[in-house]
Amino acid sequence: MNICAISFHCCPFSLLGGDGTGGMNVYLREMSAAMTNFPEVKMDIFTRVQNPKIKGIRDISPKVRVIHLKGGPEHPVDRKTLCDFLPEFSRNLEEFIIPYQRSYDLVYSHYWLSGLVGEEIRNNFSIPLIHIFHTLAFSKQRAAKENYEEHRNRLGAEEHLAHVSEAIISSSEHEKQSLIKEYGIPSSKLRVIYPGVNKGLFYPLGQEDVRRELGFREEDKIVLYVGRIEPVKGLLSLIEALESLRKKAPFLSSQLKLIVVGGGTKSSDHPKNKEINRIQKAIAEKNLWNDVFFLGSKRQNQLKKYYSAADVLVMPSLYESFGLVVVEALACGTPVIASRIGEMMNIIKEGKNGSYFNVDDPSSLSLSLNHFFSQKSSLWRAEKIRQDIISRFLWETTAKETYGIFKAIVGRSTTRRSQPDKSPRPA
Ligand code: UDP
Repeated sequence: MNICAISFHCCPFSLLGGDGTGGMNVYLREMSAAMTNFPEVKMDIFTRVQNPKIKGIRDISPKVRVIHLKGGPEHPVDRKTLCDFLPEFSRNLEEFIIPYQRSYDLVYSHYWLSGLVGEEIRNNFSIPLIHIFHTLAFSKQRAAKENYEEHRNRLGAEEHLAHVSEAIISSSEHEKQSLIKEYGIPSSKLRVIYPGVNKGLFYPLGQEDVRRELGFREEDKIVLYVGRIEPVKGLLSLIEALESLRKKAPFLSSQLKLIVVGGGTKSSDHPKNKEINRIQKAIAEKNLWNDVFFLGSKRQNQLKKYYSAADVLVMPSLYESFGLVVVEALACGTPVIASRIGEMMNIIKEGKNGSYFNVDDPSSLSLSLNHFFSQKSSLWRAEKIRQDIISRFLWETTAKETYGIFKAIVGRSTTRRSQPDKSPRPA
């Protein structure tokens, strides 16, 4: 089975945690690795050139290639203007497919921009389109309210893609139900497949040792945030919760440290990020500079140290399609306090591996933090937290279920294509 995967705007092998890189890069990277478990699968991942030094075809494994095609300037550009370069990228993709006589069985597109390219390939080569949104604009708009800043075409394009794709993979039951309700998509077209965790990359390390290595003290109470920094991630409400905790529980608050990992490189990306500026202004106004530490993005293979050093990971998002950092922290044995949204209600078992708070409600978060530190000893131990999560979420399972969909859809469309009234497929 030859898969034409499209990830127009993000290369699965770029530094994670920056402005435009995060869960989607991880998703593609993990899926392309796990898909090689199936002997008949070969996957080409098409992405736009973002760095003149990284071009052409790169073999990731004997069965997976990343193919860089020109689509706009050869450097990262604002996501809101990327749409302008889709025609160039689509043209180059078609020009790649035809002379090389590549014959793909399906298009597997990621995010709305790639979905639009995928639709063209689907139409021109008569192969099915299987799309994954990663995030949905209408959900993001409702959550981010006045801070919603997406390309004006995104909402309409997502509705269109939901209708024209042969199948849609949703990362949560919540997303599936939203697509049914919002766009009237039949349930039969939607399949929930949970993302997973890489258990070889995320496992518990001795807390004392990693704290020493990272420069924290044994007696510190460490609250960790990991991820991109944009309004919908809700980091500001965590800052406000720290302020409210200072009034409610002054003794606890004097021991607390908030470690922020993400947002790209500290020296170059942080000053350009509007949300980081807004958060840093709030920190200054609340006089919390001694309590909050911005570390910038870290390589994914370094993150287990931060997860293991922390007492708790807080995921304050207003909206998440899934929330990989939550399962990663849990795989490292670290409890999580998360907003009461989407899939969190399934991942987190209250009082065992963490707890919830009301979304976008700093006083509810400060209560949860206070409660967490007073009840911490009654939670499951690290190894039990890890075992529970890896028994439920693994990339190998995500890949197996996705492959099942691919086989079913390709089987169906091959039968249809063999009907005489269908246009022939090139190559
Ligand atoms: N990540 C990373 N380094 C960082 C921050 C984040 O490697 O400094 C990775 C993290 O391990 C996770 C992903 O980025 O796999 C973020 O995924 P998530 O689903 O939490 O958020 P998204 O980016 O999809 O909104």
